[in-house]
Amino acid sequence: MKPNIHPTFYEDAVVTCGCGNTFTTGSTVKELKTEVCSVCHPFYTGTQRIVDTGGQVERYRKRAARARQR
Ligand SMILES: [Zn+2]
Repeated sequence: MKPNIHPTFYEDAVVTCGCGNTFTTGSTVKELKTEVCSVCHPFYTGTQRIVDTGGQVERYRKRAARARQR
């Protein structure tokens, strides 16, 4: 096996989701950020219900609506 032809692979890269959930995965970068994860994505939860902490969801929706208008 040739050394140094692959990037460093982190077995325990930390993924931080927009919902506040964090989990680890394998990746070539140490830290990742995502907007949906297996906890908050409707596909996995089966509902659109989101646990809202301090109006964060409302703020996000307004921001998302603005972004769509561009
Ligand atoms: Zn999430």
